[in-house]
Amino acid sequence: MVEAEIPADHPRHDSLVTRHRVEAGVEKGITSRQGLIAQGRGEAFDYLLGERTIPSADAAARAAAAHLLLADHPVVSVNGNAAALVPAELVALADAVGADLEVNLFNRTEERMRAIAEHLRDHGATGVKGLAADARIPNLAHERAKVDADGIADADVVLVPLEDGDRAAALSDLGKVEIVIDLNPMSRSARVADVPVVDNILRAIPNITTHARELADADRPTLERIVGEFDPEATLAAAERAIRDG
Ligand code: ATP
Repeated sequence: MVEAEIPADHPRHDSLVTRHRVEAGVEKGITSRQGLIAQGRGEAFDYLLGERTIPSADAAARAAAAHLLLADHPVVSVNGNAAALVPAELVALADAVGADLEVNLFNRTEERMRAIAEHLRDHGATGVKGLAADARIPNLAHERAKVDADGIADADVVLVPLEDGDRAAALSDLGKVEIVIDLNPMSRSARVADVPVVDNILRAIPNITTHARELADADRPTLERIVGEFDPEATLAAAERAIRDG
């Protein structure tokens, strides 16, 4: 089955689309083979969540949008799975909130960095960061620590979809506001995030963009109130309840 043949009302629609895109990403040299394993883990949680955006994830997406709009320098970090799954949607979000896109890989190779940057440009991105790699995140092994000095290193708010726990923790130790998209509410990444969005990236990125567009004319006090009222622990607890109770 090709992606276009998956009926929109198929009960496992998002899983099937996600699988197809990650598989195509591996074939194109964008996604690592380990990305397939990460995908499998995510899919299991999405199944348990009923492949839907639960209300607490929608509230998190709204808080994420408010943080991105309040930021001086927001950066959206892009790895191989994110690039394969939602390239155009990442570009749309970056445009909506004035963020930079930075390619940032766990299994970094120059070839894959360039392939992802090109893939994003094919989907409308201008000025993709990540290739300069002229700064480091402290407390991480060499390859995994590489970032751009005028990108993630300089950001005050970073959105990191599907990040591994060590890097999520290292970024949050730098004092940046960290927004994580992760279907597993028990993952370390979700637990260190200021804003954990427990949702499939396929739904979460467009949803954050929709909230950002709705909030585009909101004044700072309104955005600050949304951010201030957000409770990450309660959000994770609500997601865990949804998974356990069905
Ligand atoms: P941690 O180090 O945070 O404990 P981990 O070792 O499980 O996490 P990985 O396997 O590298 O980390 O990361 C994959 C994470 O991304 C998993 O938590 C998985 O649930 C999540 N994930 C995978 N696919 C998606 C997706 N399409 N949307 C959202 N989250 C996803």
